[in-house]
Amino acid sequence: MKVTVLTGGVGGAKLVLGLTTILPAHAITAIVNTGDDFVHLGLPISPDIDTLLYTLAGKSDLERGWGRGGETWSFMAAVRELGGPAWFNLGDGDLALHVLRLAAFARGESLSQVTAAFARAWSLATTILPMSDDPVATLVDTDDGRLSFQDYFVARQCAPSLRGVSFGGADTARPGPGVLDAIAGADRILIAPSNPWLSVNPILAVPGLRDAIVLAPAPVVAVSPLIAGQAVKGPTAKLMAELGLPLTNASIATHYSGLIDGLLIDAGDDAGEVAVPVARTATLMRSLEDRARVAQAALDLAGALATGAT
Ligand code: GDP
Repeated sequence: MKVTVLTGGVGGAKLVLGLTTILPAHAITAIVNTGDDFVHLGLPISPDIDTLLYTLAGKSDLERGWGRGGETWSFMAAVRELGGPAWFNLGDGDLALHVLRLAAFARGESLSQVTAAFARAWSLATTILPMSDDPVATLVDTDDGRLSFQDYFVARQCAPSLRGVSFGGADTARPGPGVLDAIAGADRILIAPSNPWLSVNPILAVPGLRDAIVLAPAPVVAVSPLIAGQAVKGPTAKLMAELGLPLTNASIATHYSGLIDGLLIDAGDDAGEVAVPVARTATLMRSLEDRARVAQAALDLAGALATGAT
């Protein structure tokens, strides 16, 4: 059975890791948000792709919640000493990916190619596909004006009030190699509990991608990022409030309306006005067992939808 997952960084990688405990890794394809990608100190950084690589390779820092575990910080110390920008932290090990990616780009390789090379180097059989090899930049309109994603998310810690989100370059971006096939050929399509506005919307903004999902024969199941009306992490709840949306699973289902056939919500949550079939499990993913349970529940709901059992 082939499963394709749309995912952002940390929240999405938890679900993808859970899937790898249930299915052979080669049966899983992750289509990853690249709207957060940016160039820093001349280096091309792909935060969500790298989070997925680190998570699946068992190299992520689970306590800090981003970057590599066991990281050292000599490079940043030297940058600070020289008066360089310190608002974005680059660990020494992390730096290797960005330098190698820069070198690959200089040789004319694409983001898809360099991502596949990293996955091979760490013996990952899960297919990790950038949503596009063309640059797409998530731009956040706030009461402080239009900000690049990293300025909003890292430098300003999501403090400015958000009014809207747009995706620079999305009009002309093409789906990355393999992306449309992974959607059309999937037996199940999942949308990870990644931020629907900042992590999943950029993927859906790539021309042809949303239509491919709508036309795909596979059932589409999203995992809600909300538990008891709160986001587990990050700005999802704050952003929803600023957009005037109730902090409910119904808002998530409405956001994905026309796209999803089912929604997985937390066991303690009310389905409320959710217009698609709902399944429940404890969706907080602390342990590997939690990740496996949530992945299994999402697959079970998709399976029930595929056989018309809901
Ligand atoms: P980022 O790209 O690293 O910011 O991460 P994502 O967009 O992939 O994930 C952020 C979202 O994941 C937030 O909206 C969180 O509420 C959600 N999230 C994180 N951990 C969990 C979890 O354990 N369970 C559920 N249901 N959602 C989670």
